[in-house]
Amino acid sequence: MPLNAVTALPSFTRPVKATLSVAVFSLMLGLVGCNKAETPEQGADTDAPVETTAPVAGQDAATNSTATANSDQVVTIYSSRNEQLIKPLLDQYTEETGVKIELVTDKTGPLMARLDAEGKNTPADMLLTVDAGNLWQAAEQGLLQPVSSPILEANVPAKYRDPKGLWTGLSLRARTIFYDPSKVDAAQLSTYADLADPKWKGKLCLRSSKAVYNQSLVASMMENLGVEKTEQVIRGWVDNLATDVFSDDTSMLEAIAAGQCEVGVSNSYYYGRLLDEKPNFPVKIFWANQDTTGTHVNISGAGVIANSDNPDGALKLMEWLSSDKAQGLYASSDKEYPVKEGIDESDLLRSWGPFKQDTISVQKFGALQTQSIQLMDKAGYK
Ligand code: FE
Repeated sequence: MPLNAVTALPSFTRPVKATLSVAVFSLMLGLVGCNKAETPEQGADTDAPVETTAPVAGQDAATNSTATANSDQVVTIYSSRNEQLIKPLLDQYTEETGVKIELVTDKTGPLMARLDAEGKNTPADMLLTVDAGNLWQAAEQGLLQPVSSPILEANVPAKYRDPKGLWTGLSLRARTIFYDPSKVDAAQLSTYADLADPKWKGKLCLRSSKAVYNQSLVASMMENLGVEKTEQVIRGWVDNLATDVFSDDTSMLEAIAAGQCEVGVSNSYYYGRLLDEKPNFPVKIFWANQDTTGTHVNISGAGVIANSDNPDGALKLMEWLSSDKAQGLYASSDKEYPVKEGIDESDLLRSWGPFKQDTISVQKFGALQTQSIQLMDKAGYK
């Protein structure tokens, strides 16, 4: 799409904005396309495939549907969530409401860079991503606008929402300990900090410190244990590593299954998805910190784009995603925990048993992100 074709257009109507964004984005691909901190992960959220624009529910991929549809009837989502996991939920919304959804999938970093570059011309109405650290970062960069919603306030506990209404959690994920039951007795396990004990020397597997999930976990430890103690723990983890750090949680879990290590830390839904494929996957889950602060819990969530043309449409969709029906789907198809209390979990999640969650507000993860990265770097955690 040549840029001069855009400048010849008379006014910045929504269809023109969509055209402009394509032009701006094709320029940006060169800037962000090579910026991959981690290797792709099967079924991952933050490592979603690079730039697939996938129209939902019968939309014509070859045309700008925004040019033909009433803009109130289209919500454009910039999403870092795995498309296969989120699309059934969005299809359901379109079926119920008639509102079409344009889904643009990429990693969170490139999506935020794209929003920043597009500015007022962005076609995006909603950012859908994982980890409170990412949502906090998007809010810090001024990419989101505050919303006030009695529905979200009723459905989503305050500790999983931004106090100014810039973003809200829509599902929960636990980051906890996994182990090889042929070598480890659950009675030997207790806390994240205990994985720094010399008894785990040469037995621990971890994902890279570059993963926002680990940055948030370490941020929670800084809050719960203090900075000095957290640094000691990280140094102990590094001393105990059986092998180099992994680029994703799934590979780490597979390394435990393969006997490369005996214990590790992963988000719960990766384990659930592996069990779906291999019901006899030889790894067990252990709820960390049950006698202390509770297991680390993070969110996936969303915010309304600051420059959205259809903020009401984006908010309605967010409210729907927090409804009983959508929350049940998060539990059954995504293997995540509902953010709304009192929603029935899937059989699989129930089989892992109840657990005590860390009560820390997820807003802290973003605020401590830079310090967390610096601490891991100082302690030699790659
Ligand atoms: Fe993930």
